[in-house]
Amino acid sequence: MTTTAELRAFGADAATARIEVTPRSAGWRISRAVGFGIAGYAIMLLAILPPHALWAMAGLVAGTTFATLKFLERYTLESFEGTCPHCGADLSSDGRARLKARSTVTCDTCHRASELVVDVPALDAAR
Ligand SMILES: [Zn+2]
Repeated sequence: MTTTAELRAFGADAATARIEVTPRSAGWRISRAVGFGIAGYAIMLLAILPPHALWAMAGLVAGTTFATLKFLERYTLESFEGTCPHCGADLSSDGRARLKARSTVTCDTCHRASELVVDVPALDAAR
């Protein structure tokens, strides 16, 4: 689904951004969380014997972290387009990421940071 967000920066007027997001169902989130959890815990179990205790801890931490992040991914940000509030240059990204209510975007032209602000409750209402 396509919606709008704001690009805010201290000392500059906010600019509008167009974002493309994919809502994620509870089933999608749980299956991804279980997949990442199993992968991390499999690494932990394969590396449980010393001197590989560090790999076991890494598997435990990575599996838990990625499983939690996937479970919390209620929306995936597919892309965004907007203009830099500082210099007016076009900003865009096609990289997929977990949608956050606020995320930092750096302009390639002026190298200054601005904040992409998404009204997540409005997205929930539009679902
Ligand atoms: Zn800029």
